[in-house]
Amino acid sequence: MHYRYLGHSGLKISEITYGNWLTHGSQVENDVATQCVHAALDAGITTFDTADVYANTKAEQVLGDALAGERRESLEIFTKVYWPTGPGGPNDTGLSRKHVMESINGSLKRLGTDYVDLYQAHRYDTETPLEETMQAFADIVRQGKALYIGVSEWTADQIRAGAALAKDLGFQLISSQPQYSMLWRVIEDEVVPASQECGLSQIVWSPMAQGVLSGKYVPGQPLPAGSRATDDKGGARMIERFMRDDVLERVQKLRPVADELDLSMAQLSVAWVLQNDNVAAALVGASRPEQVAENVKASGVTIPAELMAQIDDVLGDVVERDPGKTAENAPAGRVA
Ligand code: NDP
Repeated sequence: MHYRYLGHSGLKISEITYGNWLTHGSQVENDVATQCVHAALDAGITTFDTADVYANTKAEQVLGDALAGERRESLEIFTKVYWPTGPGGPNDTGLSRKHVMESINGSLKRLGTDYVDLYQAHRYDTETPLEETMQAFADIVRQGKALYIGVSEWTADQIRAGAALAKDLGFQLISSQPQYSMLWRVIEDEVVPASQECGLSQIVWSPMAQGVLSGKYVPGQPLPAGSRATDDKGGARMIERFMRDDVLERVQKLRPVADELDLSMAQLSVAWVLQNDNVAAALVGASRPEQVAENVKASGVTIPAELMAQIDDVLGDVVERDPGKTAENAPAGRVA
C-alpha cells in the first residue's frame, strides 16, 4: 500500500481508502462487513470513511465495532455531517452550529473513538451562513473532536470561500470528497484547480462507478446475483445512472487495456483515478472481502500515457465532464 499526504497537511492516508456507504448496516450482514474491514487492514488500508447518514447512523456503529481493539493511532477515521439523521426534526440536518455540534458527538459515540481524523461537510448548506459552519468546525478542532476538516461535493467557489474563512479562524480545509471515475470527470476543470490553489486534495468516491467499471454488468445478460444493481435496499437506485447499454458496451471495450497492464478491470478503474496528482485516495467500497483484496492491488500502478489516451478513445462521449454537474447535483436547499 502506498500512502499520500492529504492536502496541504502532514497527514498521510492510504491511497486506497475503504468506505461503507450502502453496504454496512444495509446491503451486507455485519459479519461480512467485519470481514471486509479486516481484509482492508490486512492489505495495509489505514483510512476508513463513513458518514452519520449511512444506513441512518448504523454504518458508523458497524465500522466502530469492526475496528474495536485496533490501535487507534494506526488508523485514520473519517466521517461526515449534513444529511438528515434521526427522527427528522428541523435541526437534525444541515450545517448549523447546533446540528454540527450534536452530530459529531453522536458519530464519536457510534464509532467508539474520542476523535475523528477528518470531519467533512457532506454537502454545502445554502441555509446556514458559512461563517457559522466554519466557526463550529474551528471549535470542534480546538476541542480535539476532529483533527482536520474537509468538504464533499462543494463547487470551486464554495471551496475558495470556505478555505478563506477557515484560514481566518486558524485552521484549514484539507480535503474535498467528490465523485470521480473514468466515467465521471466533472471535477477536472474547476474543483481540482481551486483545490490546488487552496491546499486541498481529493478523496474520490465511486472510482469504480459503483461496480460498473469492474465490467461485471454485461449488456443483455442477467445482473450478477448479490451485486449493487440487485440491491433493493438502495443500491439499485443509486447505480441506475450508469446502467445504460451505451455505457456498459463501452466499458466492455476497456478489457484489452486492463489485460495489457495485467490488471482486472476493477483494478484499472481504481488505478486510473490515482493517476491524478490532486487525488489523495480512491475511496472504494466492497460487499465481499475478496473484492478488497483485489482492489488494493491498484496501489502503486502507473498507467502509461498511451493507454490513458486509449481509455479516452474507447469511452468517448459517455464520459461526463460538465463542471456544472457539481452544483446541479447538489441539493438546492437544505434537505429535511
Ligand atoms: P465503488 O465505485 O468502489 O463501488 C463499490 C462497489 O462495487 C462494491 O460495494 C461492490 O458492489 C462493487 N465492487 C467492488 N470491488 C469489486 C470488484 N473487484 N469486482 C466487482 N465488483 C466490485 O465505490 P462506492 O460507490 O461504494 O463508494 C465508495 C465510498 O465512497 C463509499 O463507501 C463512501 O465512503 C464514499 N461515498 C461518498 C459519497 C459522498 O457524497 N461523499 C457518496 C457515495 C460514496 P457489489 O458487490 O454489491 O456489486
